[in-house]
Order: sequence, then C-alpha cells, then structure tokens
Amino acid sequence: MTDSYLHKGWRNALIQNLRNKGIYSETVLTAMQKVPRHYFFESAFWEHAYQDKAFGIGEGQTISQPSTVAFQTELLDVLPSQKVLEIGTGSGYQSAVLLELGANLYTIEYNRKLYTKARNLLVQLGYKAHFYCGDGSEGLANYAPYDRIIVTAAAPKIPTSLIQQLAPEGVMVIPVGDNQQQQMCRVIKDKTGQITIQKYADFAFVPLLGKEGWQ
Ligand code: SAM
Repeated sequence: MTDSYLHKGWRNALIQNLRNKGIYSETVLTAMQKVPRHYFFESAFWEHAYQDKAFGIGEGQTISQPSTVAFQTELLDVLPSQKVLEIGTGSGYQSAVLLELGANLYTIEYNRKLYTKARNLLVQLGYKAHFYCGDGSEGLANYAPYDRIIVTAAAPKIPTSLIQQLAPEGVMVIPVGDNQQQQMCRVIKDKTGQITIQKYADFAFVPLLGKEGWQ
C-alpha cells in the first residue's frame, strides 16, 4: 500500500472540502488528514476514496461519506484516552479516525467477513483497538461504561442498553429514523444520569440490525 503525493494531494483537497462544508474542528480535520482513506478501498477504486461520497465495501454495506464521518466525530467530541464504543466497524475507516484522536476503542461489527477484513487492515496499519464480532445494537455490556458511543448504522430508536452503557458526562451520537432517512441525534448524560437529546440534520445510513435494531 502506498500513500503517494497524489493521494496526499487528494486528501488535502478533501479536508478543504470538509472545511467548506462547515466542519470546524481542527482536531477532527487533522485526524482525518492522517488517515489514508484509500487504504480502506480496493486498489481499483482508489480514485473514489477522496470524493465526498459513501462507497460499497461488499456484503451490501458502505464506508460512510467523509462529511458524515467528520460530522459524527465532531459531535462525539473525543478526548485522548477516553473509552469509546463504535457500533458498525464496517471498513474500519471511522475506527482509524477515532484511534488518531487517541480513543481507547472498542469496536463491534455484525458481519463476520467485514469484521475480519477491518481488523486485519487496522492491525496491519499499526492501530490498536479491541475488536468484536456480534450484535452491537445492545452495546458491549462487559466493558461498559463508555465515555463515548458512536453508532454508524440507522437505528429505529435509541437502544435502551446503549443509554445504560453510557458513562456519566458521556456522549452518544446515533442516527435515528426509518430505512429511508434518519436524524442525527446526540445523547448527553449528565453527572446525575439525566439525559438530554439534541437533534441535527437528516442522513441516510444502512440499517442497524439485531435485537435493538431492525432485527
Ligand atoms: N463506520 C464504518 C466505516 O467507516 O466504514 C461504516 C459503517 S457502515 C455505514 C454500517 C456498519 O454497521 C455495517 O458494516 C454493518 O454491517 C454494521 N452493523 C449493522 N448492524 C449492526 C449491529 N447490530 N452490530 C454491529 N454492527 C452492525
């Protein structure tokens, strides 16, 4: 795998494009600048990697659009060494961005082929995370609580188990809606366990499967 001047140039242009689209967190933009997004694509499709669009990764799933990754990551507001649960590892790209931010990452993927591929790639790239294969719609109770939870698939509602697994002063970012369109939600838990839900723009994600997903 090579990260040539051409790829770096495409990546710089993508980062500028994200700024133009309203992403303001330099911390998030710097993390995304560090991750060669084309590594998460088959080499035949590398030229697609720096366009702001979602792309198929096999198994009927997608790598999220860069502006969506940037927006979710900005809302999540990760601080170094925070314990982060990611539901929907997919290609592993969002995981790499979270790891560049210094997250202590727990990531879970439902599809075994994608789980194996993403884990192998991230390990090969030198990233260290806790990888799981299974139904993340109920979270990962054994390692809870989490300072941050990010869901990268469309949930029909905010899963109760994820709210329970969020630490006091924790933040969860999750797209909630039907299978056409979902509203990005940020769930904030205060020191006392009180929940506030903030709502943002609409997005279109692949469905969250499993017990607290679309089954
Ligand atoms: N964040 C990913 C990336 O950067 O490539 C994109 C994720 S893709 C939009 C959504 C992923 O969620 C798919 O890989 C899908 O298999 C996974 N998924 C769906 N339901 C799940 C569940 N209940 N638990 C864990 N993963 C799930």
